[in-house]
This record gives sequence, C-alpha cells and structure tokens, in this order.
Amino acid sequence: MNDREKAQYALKRFFGYDKFRFGQLNIIINILSKRDVFCIMPTGAGKSICYQIPALILDGITIVISPLISLMKDQVDGLKDNGIEAAYINSTQSMDEIKEILKDASLGLYKLIYIAPERLESKVFIKMIKSLKISQVAVDEAHCVSEWGHDFRVSYRYIKPFIENLDNRPVLSAFTGTATDEVKEDSMKLLSLNNPYIFTGNIDRENLAITIYKEEDKLEGIKDILREHDSESGIIYCLSRKEVESLYQYLKELGYSVGIYHGGLNDEEKKRNQEDFLYERFDTMIATNAFGMGIDKSNIRYVVHCTIPKNLESYYQEIGRGGRDGTPCDCYLFYNREDIRRVEFIINNSSNLNRREIALRKLQALIEFCEEKRCYRTNLLRYFDSKWTREYCTNCSNCLENDELRDYKKEAQMILSTVYRTRENYGISVLIDVLRGIKGPKVIQNRLDELTTFGLMKDYSTTFIRGLIKQMLVQDFVALKEGTYSMLKPTKKSMEILKGDRSVLLLIKDEETAINKELFNIIKSWRMDRANRDGIKPYIIFSDATLIEIVNKLPKNKEELFEIRGVGEKKVQRYGEELLKIINKSAT
Ligand code: ADP
Ligand code: MG
Ligand code: ZN
Repeated sequence: MNDREKAQYALKRFFGYDKFRFGQLNIIINILSKRDVFCIMPTGAGKSICYQIPALILDGITIVISPLISLMKDQVDGLKDNGIEAAYINSTQSMDEIKEILKDASLGLYKLIYIAPERLESKVFIKMIKSLKISQVAVDEAHCVSEWGHDFRVSYRYIKPFIENLDNRPVLSAFTGTATDEVKEDSMKLLSLNNPYIFTGNIDRENLAITIYKEEDKLEGIKDILREHDSESGIIYCLSRKEVESLYQYLKELGYSVGIYHGGLNDEEKKRNQEDFLYERFDTMIATNAFGMGIDKSNIRYVVHCTIPKNLESYYQEIGRGGRDGTPCDCYLFYNREDIRRVEFIINNSSNLNRREIALRKLQALIEFCEEKRCYRTNLLRYFDSKWTREYCTNCSNCLENDELRDYKKEAQMILSTVYRTRENYGISVLIDVLRGIKGPKVIQNRLDELTTFGLMKDYSTTFIRGLIKQMLVQDFVALKEGTYSMLKPTKKSMEILKGDRSVLLLIKDEETAINKELFNIIKSWRMDRANRDGIKPYIIFSDATLIEIVNKLPKNKEELFEIRGVGEKKVQRYGEELLKIINKSAT
C-alpha cells in the first residue's frame, strides 16, 4: 500500500469515515513524507485526524502538544474508543504515574501521547522523553506561540528548543483554527517549521448571518431574538460573571428556557449545566467566554454577543460555534461606546505592558469592524486573510441594507447560457464579444454570430460584463475550466441561476456600473453642453457617480430622479426636464 492507500484505510478502519474532507489527505501525505505542515482550518473542520492518521502510520510515537488539560482526556478517551492506543501527561498526574506512562511508551504501547506545553519546561521530563522514538510532534492551537495571537502561552516557546535537542528531528505539524497573516508567519518562525506545506482552509462560514446592533436596548433586543428563535438552541455571551448572573435571573423570571455558565461556578455545576445544554434540557446558554471550548453541538441556531468580545479572533471563534451542521445560524452583536470603555478598562488593568498594547490594538480592529459601513464578513475575513477578495456576502446586516446591492440574475443568465451554447470552448474575451454582438475574427470563424445569445448584451459595456463575470467567479456562480485562465464552465449554482432558483446579488463598483455605456455617453455630452451654456464646470452639475446611477436606475419622473444620490431639489428643478427627456427617448 502507498501512503495514500494507507491513509484511506486508516480513516475507514479507525474512524469509520469513507471520505477525507477537503485538505486532509494532502496534509497527511505531506506529514508522511516528513515535510513540516502548517494548517489553518476553522474549528470543527477536522484538524485532529490530520496528525492522528500519520501517527498511526509512522513508526514510533507522535507527541501532541495541546493547551487544554480538560480536553486532553476527552481526546485520548475518544482515540481509545476507536481502538487507538494513546495516553496523556499533564499536571494532574503524579511523577510515578508519568514514569509509568513513559515506560509503557518506550515499550511501544502508545502511538500518541498528548502533553501540556508546560511539561516542556521541566528538564527532567525532557530527559525522560528524549529516549523515546519520536516520529512526529503535532502542535495544536499553534497560534499560542505568538505574542501577537489572542491567547499567548509562554510555555509554547519551549517547543522549539525541545525539538532542536532531539537526536533525530521528527516531522513537525502545527494546527490552528484562526491566525492572521502576521500570527501565521510569527508562529512558523517561533516553532522553527522547516519549509512547511501551508494549508489554509476556507475560513468563510457562509451560513453564519452577521448582524450588528448599534446603541440599541439590549434587553428588548435579546427578548426579540429569543422569541424569534423559540425552542432553538443558542448561546448568549456576556463580558462578566455579574452580567451573566443578572441576565440569567432576568430571563429566567420571565419564563425563558435558560442556563448559565461562567468561571465562578464549581466544576460540578459547570459540568451539569454544560450537559443540560447539550441534551437540550434548556434552550439558551448564558455565559462568559469561558464557555464553548470543545463544545461539539451542531445545531446552535443563534449566538448573541450581549457585550462586544475583546477581539476579532474571539468573536470569530465564538460565533463559529453556531451552525456547525451547515444550516443557518444568526449571530447578533450589540455594540455601544459604553461597552468599549468597559473592555478598555479591563485591558488597561492587566499587568503585562507589551500584552496590553497588543490587546488594545486588537480591540481597535474590532471597533473598526463594528463601525464598518460595507460588508461585515469581508472586513472580518480580510483581517484573517489579507488576500480575501470578495466584497459582499448578502448575509450580513450591512449587505442586506445596502441599496447598491442589485440582483443581476437576468444578466447572469445571459452570460451562463452563452457559456453553455459555446460548450465551454472560448475564453472570456470571445464570450464578451458574442454577448455584445461584436464580430471579431474568432466569432466569424466559428460562426458564433449565429448563436441565439449573440448581441444579447449590446447595451452593456465590456468592463461591466467583465466585472460581472469576475464577481460570478468569486461567488462560484461559474468556474474556470481546469488548467485554463479564462475558459468558463458551469457550476451547480449556474444551474440554479439558469432555472431562476437563485438570485445573483452583486455589488459592482461605481466606476464600473454604467450598464448602458451609450446612454451614459449621451448624458455626459448633455452635461458638457449644459455646462457650456451655463458657464459652469460639468462636475458642478452632476458627478460621474450620479450620472452612472441615473443610467442604471433610469428614473421615469421627477420624484424618482430626486431619489438619486447627488440630486437635490434645486437640481431637479433646473435639469429635471431635459434629463428625463433624454432618458425617455433612449427607453423607447
Ligand atoms: P478541529 O480540531 O478542526 O476543530 P476535530 O478534529 O475535532 O476538528 O473534528 C471535528 C469533527 O469532525 C469530529 O467529530 C471528527 O470526527 C469529524 N471529522 C473529521 N474528519 C472527518 C471526515 N473526513 N469525515 C467525517 N467526519 C470527520
Ligand atoms: Mg481541535
Ligand atoms: Zn456582507
């Protein structure tokens, strides 16, 4: 069996799954070939299997460094349950117990040993573990090594010297759910990854609807949300224990089905409340950010931030606990200046000066996110991936309230039917020629002017059609044919659009939006004319942006003209008649 087959076999035999999820197999194969790996995949995407399967296949032992003692036991129990020999070592055990585990390990009894990073600070421990045949070191929550990350752990800095001191360098794999570009680079350096294979999974969780309420009455808002999500599971996050307690009392007295979780409860209470939530003995968990790590409940339908989180990393992690089954989850955040001051106060009272500065910078990024006028999701994803290209999502409160977002279904259908009719054989430029009715050489040669879609978009500009196609590509409404740069092929979503089952909400930038270039030019020369007559500058009359909006909205009367941005009452009086005449003429 080759590595691929071994991995496939292990997936089925030990985990009972038939198919790898996107990215998993490549990561595993790279680890098996002894190449270091750095992997960013959202929570729940399946990172564990990426190091567990190599652990099973490689000779020797895999050391997993994992920051959460409470989750370690669960992980190991889970593995044992699947028939995989594993153990963990952390501060809850005595020296004798640890020695026993390491003795068993040296006899080859375990494939994986989970350790808390703090273990690596002990010289005695390092000495004991050095004699084992370590084939892989897997670092979970790898962003903890970076001070720029949102939960820095000093002990992660001991990983690098630990590895450098081993006689044979094991392959190193590092995993995290969220990391900005900066944290990613920093982590790779601090862990001394060697030319790693870098995998970044799709960080966009399309089914999370993002809504931000500014300076709104929280209690009224929360009650509305709970009524709307009657008998569905959800989480409400608050900043402090006190806030959690009082919201809990308030909602409980009103008869809502709520539970409570924060660091002030004893272990037994925490465990019981968590289980009651998982088994749906109540609907809504009201909690501080202490709640949620390792919670694998797939049907959480709303996540409310009653107070702003401290940073975007925490925010994305917390809303990421919603909608794990892929169906919609509403994420509401209540944002107000007063809460910002409270969070600032907490940060300013923390001890470490350097950390304080970083925390304030992260808070600033969160504020900018909340103040954003355009797509929230775009802003959020760009924070984690500076190369994120999509500009809108249609699933956040800013996009949904944005008038400029238009349904381009009709235009998309014209493009897609041309793609079909040309059998995916031509590049984008030729498609545009066909759509605009231009008889270029390729068109004539291949008799594309005989297609029924020929000239269907003669009123649109090349820039507009190109922009539309570009955005359709980003949204997977159409795809590039494998191995080509500009040949298009339909996707599943294309079919839905052609059938009319899907709208094509797009935001096309002002500069590109004059749908009817001809009319735009006519109106522009009218503006020039009029400016000459009145002895003023053309742009004083209307800006280009206003002209474009006029062309795209085609106002039929003075009332509609008045609705256009940049057209006030005076302008309607002064220019309305002439303009409407031009527009009406072109419409007939
Ligand atoms: P992460 O560490 O990325 O948050 P986990 O490794 O805990 O995610 O995996 C989340 C869930 O997905 C687990 O229940 C796991 O068994 C499951 N899973 C992982 N890979 C697959 C797969 N290929 N097919 C089906 N389920 C999978
Ligand atoms: Mg994990
Ligand atoms: Zn959006």
